[in-house]
Amino acid sequence: MEVVDQWENALRDLREVAALLELPEETVAVLSNPRRILSVSLPVRMDDGEVRVFEGYRVQHSLDRGPAKGGLRYHPDVSLDEVKALAMLMTWKCALVKIPFGGAKGAVVCDPDRMSEAEIERLTRRYTAEVGIILGPEKDIPAPDVNTNPRVMAWIMDTYSMNMGYSVPEVVTGKPPEIGGSEGRFDATARGVVTTIREACRVQNRAFAGSTMAIQGAGNVGGNAAKLAADLGSSVVALSDVNGAVYNPRGLNLWAVAARVLKTGSVLGTPGCEEISNAELLALDVDILVPAALGGTITMDNVNEVKAPIVAEAANAPITPDAEKALFERGTFVIPDILCNAGGVTVSYFEWVQNIQSLLWKEEDVYKRLEEVMLTAFYRVLDIGSRRGVNLRVASMVLAVDRVAKAIKARGLFP
Ligand code: NAD
Repeated sequence: MEVVDQWENALRDLREVAALLELPEETVAVLSNPRRILSVSLPVRMDDGEVRVFEGYRVQHSLDRGPAKGGLRYHPDVSLDEVKALAMLMTWKCALVKIPFGGAKGAVVCDPDRMSEAEIERLTRRYTAEVGIILGPEKDIPAPDVNTNPRVMAWIMDTYSMNMGYSVPEVVTGKPPEIGGSEGRFDATARGVVTTIREACRVQNRAFAGSTMAIQGAGNVGGNAAKLAADLGSSVVALSDVNGAVYNPRGLNLWAVAARVLKTGSVLGTPGCEEISNAELLALDVDILVPAALGGTITMDNVNEVKAPIVAEAANAPITPDAEKALFERGTFVIPDILCNAGGVTVSYFEWVQNIQSLLWKEEDVYKRLEEVMLTAFYRVLDIGSRRGVNLRVASMVLAVDRVAKAIKARGLFP
């Protein structure tokens, strides 16, 4: 069985591209190490009166192109090595879409499904207080990730602001619009994902309208991608969460799925659907497969079962490097994560820009700018891929790592 080591995989990707770019060894050494790692213990009073101590992290991989930017994840299995890998991925993602941020990621080892809202609030506020020493609009700006949402971002904003003594909306993105959240942020990642899939269909001479799609993960990214893809005429035949998947070869009734999730918290039990496992969903004979849950879901163990000719990495690192290479070799059009899901951080950047200038952009302006950024990055990557004769993962990394390496060179080594 393939053991998934996300940090080792991230380093492998970096080394491969560094060799192509002929980067100096000292630059590779700098990029192979996160700039800062803050590890915190978070004592939280639970509803039953007991105090539980949670483990939390904030990793800043690079500050070379600007303040660090990256999501906050709550998950029982999250590890420091995974957070380091995700922080590095954020560095490449920001560079790829040319937004002036470095990369970071945060996490707390916890199971929010087994916690009350009040417990999650106390945990979030304590986490913010502990990592607050390295957060700030010019330092590091968190955003939502797995199991965190605008509500959690609002608590971060409030806690940070209380410590400062004035409101600092620009310390976090993905906030509710009432406190400075950008129009269009809630589905920005999904919108970017669907834009890249639409363009992948275009360059492959496949029709997007009428295509079939299977999506793993029905959260912020997967759930919204399903709605947006269906709006553009794709037939979403399968959608899953951690408990399993619902499947209807004639297309899911997404309203019914959403109603079921609202009522029970899971897609399972939606009327008019067959129930299949997450493993079966990945193996469906569809035009487009969208892994939008966790990392390491497609490995050398199951890659041969993937039949879709287009795979869109909506999640971060959902395919291991070896499995991804196997897909590329087989001619599968894989849209790499740092390109595919970059819409979220792009609109996060728009939110930060609006907040620091006290501006409010209209939804249509946000969507227009997002589309522009995604299309520029997509076709730039495609161009590098065909000029250098490399797959789109390598092409994305070439563009991103080169930009970061040039920033490091321009700044020089302190002192
Ligand atoms: P979310 O918490 O809103 O949703 C996650 C979904 O995945 C849920 O439906 C959950 O049930 C499902 N899931 C969890 N474990 C699973 C498993 N083992 N098998 C199958 N399904 C499982 O999270 P999200 O914000 O939608 O993030 C999903 C992915 O997209 C993550 O990899 C995240 O890093 C990435 N991402 C998110 C954003 C964003 O803006 N939210 C931006 C870029 C990348």
